[in-house]
Amino acid sequence: MEKINQIEIKNSKGIGKDIYELIQDLYPICRSITGNGVRETLNKIKQHIPLNISEVPTGTKVFDWEVPKEWNINDAYIKNSKGEKIVDFKKSNLHVLNYSIPIHKKISLTELKKHIFTLPEHPDWIPYRTSYYEENWGFCITHNQFQNLRDEQYEVCIESSLIQGSLTYGEIFLKGKIKDEVLLSCYVCHPSMCNDNLSGVSLLTYLAREINKVNHNLSYRFLFIPETIGAITWLSKNEKKINNIKHGLVATCVGDSSGKMTYKKTRNGNNIIDKIVTNVLTESKEPFEIVDFFPTGSDERQFCSPGFNLPIGSLMRTIYDKFEEYHTSADNLNYVNSKSLENSFEKYLKIIKQLEEIKVEEKESNQKNVKNKIIIKSDEEIFYNNLNPKCEPQLGRRGLYNMVGGQKNSIQNMLPIFWVLNLSDGTNSISDIVKKSNLEIQDIKNAINILIKKNLLKMDTK
Ligand code: ZN
Repeated sequence: MEKINQIEIKNSKGIGKDIYELIQDLYPICRSITGNGVRETLNKIKQHIPLNISEVPTGTKVFDWEVPKEWNINDAYIKNSKGEKIVDFKKSNLHVLNYSIPIHKKISLTELKKHIFTLPEHPDWIPYRTSYYEENWGFCITHNQFQNLRDEQYEVCIESSLIQGSLTYGEIFLKGKIKDEVLLSCYVCHPSMCNDNLSGVSLLTYLAREINKVNHNLSYRFLFIPETIGAITWLSKNEKKINNIKHGLVATCVGDSSGKMTYKKTRNGNNIIDKIVTNVLTESKEPFEIVDFFPTGSDERQFCSPGFNLPIGSLMRTIYDKFEEYHTSADNLNYVNSKSLENSFEKYLKIIKQLEEIKVEEKESNQKNVKNKIIIKSDEEIFYNNLNPKCEPQLGRRGLYNMVGGQKNSIQNMLPIFWVLNLSDGTNSISDIVKKSNLEIQDIKNAINILIKKNLLKMDTK
């Protein structure tokens, strides 16, 4: 068997094309955080790598959360008074507010408008919106479609089901010579969108396939999970294993044509993975950007919650939220391309090759430094502890979260709360939090007060 540093992709058409073709194959499926769309997706991935698929029943307690009811959908449409279908789920699965409860009735335009989401700034695009934790129904349509609505009766139909079922995730563990693990994670919950995040799913499938063919020192664990609730579920069921995780990356947004890669550092910012990714990007002589950890984004939010603080960063091209097409129908098969996918794949592979070459001493000394480096002297020596340090607490249940998910700006208002929760591990004072978050001290203090009231935070009295 070959060694990992001998991996050379022997593929005449280029691995970027393979990665793109898998995206094409997965694109039409209507995925969500649970349901048959996730199963179908994982089964397709299983044709490439020996994936283990787990089902976790609805109602299972996972830290502060519960596995939700399982959602499935067959069809949905809006018909005008002439009986013409003016919005059709079969044309785009983004047309339905993801996790909509079933509905079939005739309603007025005024009533319909309360359940419609559009993007006025891009009148041809359909927005992607979710309502996982509040039972609601809705349609996402182009703003042009919206402007054509007349004052008449509409028939709305969403043929969905929300039942006691399970949450599905996929995992593949590739045992190396040593127990130390690299965790590579992506999410499989977005319906028809490509950069966010079929690009990450497909890239990791091919990376797992290549590593599976060769000898390696480190062990590798690949997760294909629904975002947030899947990471929380996995961490909750695998708490004993996480001590082995020494390095990791969340793979997302790796297929757009931007010539620039973006690396979001781990929470501590000084782990081996941070150094190696920086090396690989520097050596590439291509443009790149490195950003410090921030407590919003993808599943690094859970992996890097203060109770775990895992050395996991995220390597992307254009960061989610920074491209206009993000969470819309314009993040489609034209938005990603095989050349960029191949370029991202090469970076991931180089990172793996460099990780394989680390010497044990370096690893150990790095571990010891971790705790010390985060302590920064500050003027305001008041420290807090997050009372729910493992993963994020479920903010929606406590009335602290905008209930319709997927919107770009809603997360902005939540930033002080996310920063306070993530940094309140007894080592960051108020002024540390202000410095690291770049937010106003008053906003941080307000967030602290809210979190104390909700019993999620306590002053550190040590
Ligand atoms: Zn997303």
